[in-house]
Amino acid sequence: HPALYWIRRDLRLADNPALHAAARSGRAVIPVYIHAPAEAGDWAPGNASNWWLHHSLRAMADALAAHGLPLIIREGDSLGALMDLVAETGAEAVHWNRLYEPARIASDTRVKQGLKAEGIDAHSHNAALLHEPWTIQTGTGGDYKAFTPFWRACRRQPEPAPPLGVPADLATTDGAHGLTGSVVPSAGITAPLDALDLLPPSDSAEGLQSTWRPGEQGAHDRLEGFLEMALAEYREGRERPAVAGTSRLSPHLHHGEISPRQIWQAVQAQLARHGAEGDRLDSAEMFLSEIGWREFAQHVLYHHPEFPDEPLNPRFADFPWQEDPGDQLLGAWQRGETGIPLVDAGMRELYTTGWMHNRIRMVVGSFLVKNLRLPWQAGEAWFWDKLVDADLASNSLGWQWVAGSGADAAPYFRVFNPIRQGERFDAEGAYIAHWLPALAGLPAKHRQAPWQAPAGVLRDAGVTLGVNYSHPLVDLKESRQAALAAFEQIKKGA
Ligand code: FAD
Repeated sequence: HPALYWIRRDLRLADNPALHAAARSGRAVIPVYIHAPAEAGDWAPGNASNWWLHHSLRAMADALAAHGLPLIIREGDSLGALMDLVAETGAEAVHWNRLYEPARIASDTRVKQGLKAEGIDAHSHNAALLHEPWTIQTGTGGDYKAFTPFWRACRRQPEPAPPLGVPADLATTDGAHGLTGSVVPSAGITAPLDALDLLPPSDSAEGLQSTWRPGEQGAHDRLEGFLEMALAEYREGRERPAVAGTSRLSPHLHHGEISPRQIWQAVQAQLARHGAEGDRLDSAEMFLSEIGWREFAQHVLYHHPEFPDEPLNPRFADFPWQEDPGDQLLGAWQRGETGIPLVDAGMRELYTTGWMHNRIRMVVGSFLVKNLRLPWQAGEAWFWDKLVDADLASNSLGWQWVAGSGADAAPYFRVFNPIRQGERFDAEGAYIAHWLPALAGLPAKHRQAPWQAPAGVLRDAGVTLGVNYSHPLVDLKESRQAALAAFEQIKKGA
């Protein structure tokens, strides 16, 4: 009797516990992907995530086909589809890797109970995290609200186990399984994949296409490049949006094309090769702690299922947000037309590539929530649709951090000044020149605040505010004051 391997956000063959368990049982493995966005509740994947998923599924189908395994694609209710497949194939076991979003936990629980009720062996596994959310507890058995003690507690745990390889017995299984009609050989994956309708309609995917290579191989190439080129200088390089100073592994991690313990092991191996000391060690530790932030986000979401929608700090529930008739302000922010170059450059990077540098995510977030005084949930929703790494836990954590309402958040009165941020982290104005070519002719020192440049300088650079670049949407100083006044109001109310 074969075993079903139910694929979700674990689009890889190596270090895949569910695939391993299915193969280890000595039975033929039948990999199946069931498209069921409704099971994500209010947070079905957005456009950029769907683009990624389409290409990653294709890469997975090819990788499985190389082992003689056809990938089956179904749509609809997961439990119903699995039961159908059980009936068609005579499978007696189903293996999958766990997801941790509240809606997924609810639907996976239902699936497990439903399968067991029919006498099917149903097993879930951990493929996505170094430490599952409930395994890290405070001394009194509670959850962590701050990152540093959380990460310290993680580091006290035994080192992550070495990653698994690609299951050896995959290659020996017979791909046909006696399935009738529903077998999809790799060459035939195109029609069922296209039927899921995951790709955006227009050429809006061009920037995504030229920036990313979804799939397990793309993930490992990205990791290798980062280890060689940027890890040693990560501590400083990570703060500079104009250079490739970070790993850009986030969409690969989100879709499970690479596992955190594969990354962990690769970093340790790199340190062992080149010496674990000084700046190199500091940089590696800092990079691993970012992987820790990803774990912390899952921990917070698990313990606070309302986290994507409600401020963790209830004081912020009554925050006096700004009226925005017709979404004028929100629209300008989304399009990258605020007239604040660092903000606009970031929003265009997001729109074009599906990714934005972490420092700039904080800058555009602070500008939206503080200077425009619009609800963080509006920014969260835009990011959700546009990011290829859109992740419910990390996105909520990021937005509540920016808004000052979340776990281990920035204090509300910390309002990022985009001009100062630009001067510090994009001193040459290279990031701005890249994403806002209209400003590229300005001398570096005027790129952060073109409205302050002398008229002659603007003229020489071919910049006409209001024509080829926007006037600032708000006065940075006044809007900062207004935000702080609004904060005083909720402080008094609490
Ligand atoms: P690296 O610096 O190379 O870090 C390595 C990995 O660590 C990342 O791939 C990511 O998985 C993890 N990581 C790094 N920083 C964080 C962080 N602050 N929180 C959680 N995990 C982190 N990250 C997402 O993966 N998905 C999101 O939807 C998301 N939304 C965000 C929204 C806001 C407002 C902010 C401020 C941050 C958000 N982040 C999100 C966190 C962070 O910006 C990205 O993880 C990071 O920029 C990804 O780039 P990288 O892979 O090059 O990161």
